[in-house]
Amino acid sequence: MSPAHFVLHDVFGYEQFRGPQQAIIEHVIAGGDALVLMPTGGGKSLCYQVPAIARRDAGRGVTVVVSPLIALMHDQVGALHEAGVEAAFLNSTLDWPQTLEVERRLSRGEITLLYAAPERVTTERFIGLLDDLHARGQLSLFAIDEAHCVSQWGHDFRPEYRQLSILHERYAGVPRIALTATADELTRADIVQGLQLQDARQFVSSFDRPNIRYRIEEKKEPLAQLLRFITREHLGDAGVVYCQSRRRVEEMAQALQDGGINALPYHAGLPADMRQAHQDRFLREDGIVMVATIAFGMGIDKPDVRFVAHVDMPKNIEGYYQETGRAGRDGLPADAWMVYGLQDVVNQRRMIDEGDAAEEFKAVLRGKLDALLALAEATDCRRVRLLHYFGEQSQPCGNCDNCLNPPAVWDGTDAARKLLSTIYRVHEASGLTFGVGHLMDIVRGKPTDKVRQFGHDGLSTFGLGKDYHEAQLRGVLRQLLAVGAVGLHKVTTDAGHSFDTLALTPGSRPVLRGEQQVLLREATAKAASKPKRRAA
Ligand code: ADP
Ligand code: ZN
Repeated sequence: MSPAHFVLHDVFGYEQFRGPQQAIIEHVIAGGDALVLMPTGGGKSLCYQVPAIARRDAGRGVTVVVSPLIALMHDQVGALHEAGVEAAFLNSTLDWPQTLEVERRLSRGEITLLYAAPERVTTERFIGLLDDLHARGQLSLFAIDEAHCVSQWGHDFRPEYRQLSILHERYAGVPRIALTATADELTRADIVQGLQLQDARQFVSSFDRPNIRYRIEEKKEPLAQLLRFITREHLGDAGVVYCQSRRRVEEMAQALQDGGINALPYHAGLPADMRQAHQDRFLREDGIVMVATIAFGMGIDKPDVRFVAHVDMPKNIEGYYQETGRAGRDGLPADAWMVYGLQDVVNQRRMIDEGDAAEEFKAVLRGKLDALLALAEATDCRRVRLLHYFGEQSQPCGNCDNCLNPPAVWDGTDAARKLLSTIYRVHEASGLTFGVGHLMDIVRGKPTDKVRQFGHDGLSTFGLGKDYHEAQLRGVLRQLLAVGAVGLHKVTTDAGHSFDTLALTPGSRPVLRGEQQVLLREATAKAASKPKRRAA
């Protein structure tokens, strides 16, 4: 039995390596550098834990694991203790005597894996400890977890990660393994550059999670849709429901509880002890539905989460992928279910616009949002689209809503052209910008006071789209936004009110000229053709 297999069986009690684990582990045990890109739940931890133990058994000393997540450090050290492995962490939760005790154990050679936060690793004191170990040939390996934190473009940029290149400069002979679940090219290049991993072997796993069934629906009555989804398909299952805001988390959790679902709220505004209690219950009890903001989930390892639901749209595909990836870590069938609507797009855009990021950065964020919108609007295989975003080519999967029930498509090109020419004419006629609702009224020929006031009932496009229902036109608009054929801008009036307005873009032209088709799901049209009932 190889040392790697021995540790896998003897320490962790597992039968086999998963996917690329064996190749990675053998490479690292042999002293090679590695960059590991593996999706959440793929089993990254073993990729450094097994080499750490095997190399320590061979007399090579301690492995230093750099991790930004304190909760994860605690969990892993606890789990390693249970498996009989000497592990410890150094972070801000330790007081001074505890810190000294860990340092003593370290220099006595009693520790196999030492977890430390990045800002700790680069301190003079810590470097002193490493120098000492290194001089005695007892510095075995560096594992850099969440390596994407080195990338400025990522959502978790941490400046301290930039300083980790010192590990290479100072201890050139000590192998390093960097790991991340973020896969896009830009991030990967940043990691190689920032951590000086030019000579590392790269292990890129497929980001496919074949057991997850992707489903994305139009948002109508999110609560009713969610209740139906859970009661019909996941009664008694553990799941996570992601919402955009704290308020919405609380409303949704309450509404689910009223609907007889075992739901708990989780967001950063709740008292710490309540958050902890809810998290513990979610992990220990069966069938808890956690209703949460994205504050929930990082580093939580619950294998039997049967569904992840989004009642609001995330910021981008990375977020969507990471959050949905918390479903089905045990490899059994699981659902990633999302509802989305035009309002989600408007809200997300507003958050970008009102954020204090630099303009070029905002443009990147808008592009990422559009990519997610395009995924949501897609009429072909979701998985093909999702994997394509991460640079993988694949065939239609047979396990997403579009593959299982190919949506009937409806040609919205005519409606799109009417919308776009109206945007053009309104701007030409008034030189002013107007909100989405007002443009709809013009296209549909509704002579509201405002329409009359600006003489927009006299435009050549007034009422051109009267045969379309509002829901159809909104569907067309979303699609136009998704493909960049229309732009959304925030306008603030002199009185300080702000609203979203639509503008033509270079991408509008092919649609206006009839060179580009706009295909939509038939469902949008069908739903719209039912008479709409409004509460009085
Ligand atoms: P990641 O860090 O990539 O998200 P983890 O390292 O937390 O993933 O592993 C996810 C789950 O898979 C954990 O419960 C882990 O114990 C389990 N696991 C990892 N490798 C194996 C294996 N070879 N055999 C069985 N279970 C494994
Ligand atoms: Zn598919």
